[in-house]
Amino acid sequence: MAFELPALPYAYDALEPYYDRETLEIHHGKHHQTYTTKFNEAVQAAGIEGKSVLEILTSLDSIPADKRNPVINHGGGYYNHTFFWESMSPEGGQPSGDLLAALEAEFGSVEAFKEAFSNKAIAHFGSGWAWLVQTAEGKLAITDTHDQVCPVSLGQVPLLTVDVWEHAYYLKYRNVRPEWVKAFWNVVNWNKVAERFAAAKG
Ligand code: MN
Repeated sequence: MAFELPALPYAYDALEPYYDRETLEIHHGKHHQTYTTKFNEAVQAAGIEGKSVLEILTSLDSIPADKRNPVINHGGGYYNHTFFWESMSPEGGQPSGDLLAALEAEFGSVEAFKEAFSNKAIAHFGSGWAWLVQTAEGKLAITDTHDQVCPVSLGQVPLLTVDVWEHAYYLKYRNVRPEWVKAFWNVVNWNKVAERFAAAKG
């Protein structure tokens, strides 16, 4: 079965005023829809129908070289956006429990983590994403990826992400990416991050 655009887990205006309805409508309804459509085309061209998106993104080497880039670009776009929507919630919140302890152990404090993550997101050159991941060695780390590269293809488990493509923030925040990154913290779904962290620890 072909991949389908997943429904947002909240209404288009649910993240106002931090993430505005118009941006979210276009970002989900147009950008994510286009990645979904083109991912299906790329999957068909590569002859890898029937695999899950995670199976595809973790076995890119098995795809013929001349068919691989569209799968990376659109498969990553499909997966990363779904992951990003689920990284946000109108409820917001704060990290707690095991996740809080791990963030404090690795970064010193939640505030220090937020500052380092924000700096990575703000400094990322061009289109891409900033991530909190669990590395292959089992450590928490802040990374960035270009275009639609997904951490799962790098052997990492993603826990949190922010989209810093201009399409993610330009309508409301114009060229001021730091304002978007600052606003993002108000709508981080910490329960979801904690759930991912617990699953990654196994
Ligand atoms: Mn995007």
